[in-house]
Amino acid sequence: MIKVLVCGAAGKMGQAVVAAVAGADSLELVALVDTRFALTTPAPVDIFAHLRFGDLSTAALETSPDVIVDFTHPDSVEANIRFAMTNGIDCVVGTTGLTEGQLAALASKSTSGACLFMAPNFAIGAVLMMRLAAEVARFLPHVEIIELHHDRKADAPSGTALRTASLIHDARGTTPDSPGKDTELVEGARGAYVSEIPIHSVRLPGLVAHQEVIFGGQGQTLTIRHDSIDRTSFMPGVLLAIHKVGRLSGLVIGLERLMGD
Ligand code: NAD
Repeated sequence: MIKVLVCGAAGKMGQAVVAAVAGADSLELVALVDTRFALTTPAPVDIFAHLRFGDLSTAALETSPDVIVDFTHPDSVEANIRFAMTNGIDCVVGTTGLTEGQLAALASKSTSGACLFMAPNFAIGAVLMMRLAAEVARFLPHVEIIELHHDRKADAPSGTALRTASLIHDARGTTPDSPGKDTELVEGARGAYVSEIPIHSVRLPGLVAHQEVIFGGQGQTLTIRHDSIDRTSFMPGVLLAIHKVGRLSGLVIGLERLMGD
């Protein structure tokens, strides 16, 4: 059994992770950590009430997890990862907002070969969208990204959009001219340029996590779209990472690194 601590357990993603881990045969849910638990008394009907902790270090010291899963907030995740790495605990991170450089610096603090696994998107369909986008960009280098999320999302653009832009940048041989920032009548009209690719961020209630990658060529367009319509879409990827992280070490980024082996 792999002992799992879920950090951010009261949040939208955390609650889905708790349900997925509790339902997995080979995993043992040992602690639910959320700063909100420090403020609220557990409801008597909550079957997980006895696993609740208000802070990560107390929970980890009392329950000795093999893996810490973090879906918290861009302001919290750095300290949580640092705690996991310096205590030699493997970490599966879904919280977005840290750069690759920040993640690499945190992974370097690992004293005992612990792995820092981070995926900007745990939905397998989204990983395939990114892979297809990189392939298409070799032939249709003109591209823009529209990412759409719920209105409570803490960061913009999304980690998925940043990762998609990075993969496209590495895959396409040329950086084509496109009407850029200098054509804007209103600041922001052309989006945010990342690796010379415009990214447009939509935030609306009712959305979960969605992205379109639009390619343009002579007389044609090609659109790749992925929709997470429910947070359960991320759970097969999260469970895969929990199962595999113990066999890895150092910094590993992207669910695609775990698929197909
Ligand atoms: P949320 O606001 O619903 O939940 C976050 C929870 O973390 C809250 O309950 C909050 O109290 C708790 N928290 C904050 N700081 C904490 C700390 N120091 N210790 C313990 N708990 C703490 O947010 P959400 O929608 O669940 O998203 C969480 C993160 O996951 C965001 O960064 C989001 O972008 C990311 N996300 C990633 C993926 C992916 O596939 N990688 C998918 C969806 C969301």
